[in-house]
Amino acid sequence: MHHAILLLAPKGTGREVLGQQLAQTVLCNNCDSEPCGVCHSCKLFAAGTHPDFHLIQPEQEGKQIGVDAVRQCNRWAMETSHLAGQRVIMIDCADSMGEAGANAILKTLEEPPSGCQFILTAQSLDSLLPTIVSRCNKWRIETPDEQFVKQWVEKQLMQTIKIESIRLNACAPLATQQFIEQGMDIRHNHLNEAFVAFLQPPHIGIYDVVSLCISEGIVSMKWLSYFLVDCIKFQQGVTGYLTHSESIDKIQSVAQAVPSTILIQQVRKINELHRKLEKHSGLNIELLIVEWLTGFIGGNNRVS
Ligand SMILES: [Zn+2]
Repeated sequence: MHHAILLLAPKGTGREVLGQQLAQTVLCNNCDSEPCGVCHSCKLFAAGTHPDFHLIQPEQEGKQIGVDAVRQCNRWAMETSHLAGQRVIMIDCADSMGEAGANAILKTLEEPPSGCQFILTAQSLDSLLPTIVSRCNKWRIETPDEQFVKQWVEKQLMQTIKIESIRLNACAPLATQQFIEQGMDIRHNHLNEAFVAFLQPPHIGIYDVVSLCISEGIVSMKWLSYFLVDCIKFQQGVTGYLTHSESIDKIQSVAQAVPSTILIQQVRKINELHRKLEKHSGLNIELLIVEWLTGFIGGNNRVS
């Protein structure tokens, strides 16, 4: 196996479980294509106390992996094995390493000491620095098809679910399940309703949209972006694959009320805003969203 494996899949596909399975396989004393589950190494791994397995990940969902944590990987890489075997260093959500963190690990990733295996997970190639990507062997994990995800999640939750919940979560089964369990599907719907109402003249209710965005955090910007992309598609006559396939009436009303030039400009801006807020936590979300929303109001009628 290449010394640095990069597992590519959206969050909520179980990619970290696969990464751990791979790590356990590398460390297993009876290593074959799967960990044996009975050797000393497998038992330590199952107990979460294997001294040659090191894992780093963001401390909180959506936060960056700090540069100090990345430097710790470099130190682990230099250590000798406690069990006279391989060492595995796993970086879960490697796309959460900031630029400084990513640069700190480059040299080790390129030429790791012998017996040292790296396993990285990430959303996509685009979310990583090219210098990291070029040093890894890339394994792309396919997500299951929509109907399969629908059946699987419905079985877990014992309720029917909407296709849009699946599409908003990039067909990732566990992410879709969590989306519904945490009531995000309901809040997503509330946000869309407030947003659609605001987009109709005379554009009232701006603070309903803002307060829903603030309470949901930056994921709400992704939702609004997907929604506007659907409206643009609708205007272009593409109705076959809309994320919000169960909300065509909402899409249609916005597609008719807002000119395509404004929609395109606003999608670009909300995507920029999303990236900015992901990078810098100290920004004033409220102010930025109000400013963005006023971009829908033409002429001199801007909300002050
Ligand atoms: Zn084993």
